[in-house]
Amino acid sequence: MADTLTVKNPATGEKVETIEQHTEDQVNDALERSHRAFADWSARDAHDRSALIKAWSAKVKEHTEELAELMTKENGKPLKESRGEVTYSTEYLDWYAEEAKRIYGKTIPANTPDKRILVTQQPVGPVAAITPWNFPTAMMARKAAPALAAGCTFVVKPASDTPLSGMRFIDLAHEAGVPKDVIQYVNTSGKVAGELFTESPYVRKITFTGSTAVGKKLIKGSADTVKHVTMELGGHAPFIVAKDADVDVAVEQALNNKFRNSGQTCVCANRLLVHESIAEEFTEKFSEKVKALKVGNGMEDGVQVGPIINEDGYDKIKKQVDDAVDKGAEVTAGDQYNIDRDKGYFFVQPTVLTDVTLDMTIMHEETFGPVAPIMTFRDLEAAVDIANDTPYGLAAYFFTNDYRTGTYLHDALDFGIVGWNDTGISAAHAPFGGMKESGMGREGGQEGIEPYLVTKYMSVGGFGKSE
Ligand code: NAP
Repeated sequence: MADTLTVKNPATGEKVETIEQHTEDQVNDALERSHRAFADWSARDAHDRSALIKAWSAKVKEHTEELAELMTKENGKPLKESRGEVTYSTEYLDWYAEEAKRIYGKTIPANTPDKRILVTQQPVGPVAAITPWNFPTAMMARKAAPALAAGCTFVVKPASDTPLSGMRFIDLAHEAGVPKDVIQYVNTSGKVAGELFTESPYVRKITFTGSTAVGKKLIKGSADTVKHVTMELGGHAPFIVAKDADVDVAVEQALNNKFRNSGQTCVCANRLLVHESIAEEFTEKFSEKVKALKVGNGMEDGVQVGPIINEDGYDKIKKQVDDAVDKGAEVTAGDQYNIDRDKGYFFVQPTVLTDVTLDMTIMHEETFGPVAPIMTFRDLEAAVDIANDTPYGLAAYFFTNDYRTGTYLHDALDFGIVGWNDTGISAAHAPFGGMKESGMGREGGQEGIEPYLVTKYMSVGGFGKSE
């Protein structure tokens, strides 16, 4: 493996920065230091840990602009979205700084009068994390904040496409006073990090956000040492528009949800299922708005959709669109590209496809790009069957003003997150996570700290009246 990594701007292909890659020995050393730091960090009182996480949040807030610019340069997302991500990251820090003080235990009535039973929650141990490029700081914050709050130490490997903003994010924790060995980053390839993290006797928990294929490898690798795992994996979100939906609301929400981060989020609508009676109106209104989206370098004013992260990402998107068009899909917006393979930039004009059928790859594979395929349906039950016919189960959306349709869809959809007339589903105070092959464990909310805790029960004997 090379000993340096050049991070490139996906909007221009130009170098942003060259950084050092850590050797295997350095990664193992970081894990050992994390293990050694655990005793002190886990023994600190919760209020102390809480104060340090709050101080970290304050530092990040002070450096919002710096972090956002770095993020846009390495990831390509519009600057406004990067600023939003930095703020969203601090929301996790703020939430878990408070939750640190609410790690409650309980007492259980014993079956003899001389006993007391106490149950406490303790930190699981040193945590190793691997994060993706699409949300370089937010995915770190979701993991690091509850881990530190619970009393765990933390080592993260950022994605090789976007390590810079994540590294700076961790540096700011140190500047805020969090001890250096309590939170660390290591830069190496995903494969090497996966192997070293899962094999290490020091790591007690692996937390991962990324593709389902890699998640499965990490689960298998964790089995030999029985590590705890949290997996936030891929998605293939259905977006159902029922016949009584408010079409304008559905159009607006589809636009916001589908094209954020150039369609490169695990909760982006991947299959739009629209009732046949309103399909024409929905498609017309939606396509008009999609055509108006401004694509370009995220550093420029007014740009709403940035580049695709890399060549592999672009090739996958283009293949799905070509496959759909070959099989009879109509293009009502987009299917235009501005790419340069030598320089290394790939822009995809937001695309809408109609006359989509189930034999098209896009209806089964995650797209991770700004392409919206629309399929019509007549019976709601048939739409639910299509929606659920996927190994994924992360997010699903539906639009209806009929409470019976809404409650039916809520109950029938096999997804960890459902949005009813709403696609703004990510929030630090709510449990985010998937069913089926979209993962296990939750991030955010009260539930998001549980994966970093283990239950200890103590039985105390010898109680009774003293003489
Ligand atoms: P990916 O290939 O799985 O990469 C994600 C991370 O895993 C990167 O840090 C990568 O490192 C690392 N990695 C790659 N191969 C590895 C291996 N063999 N062992 C251990 N780690 C390895 O995923 P991606 O395609 O870049 O990211 C997009 C995926 O993430 C999508 O499927 C998306 O749905 C999912 N995602 C899920 C959520 C969620 O919350 N559920 C959120 C965001 C994204 P390198 O960069 O060094 O290769």
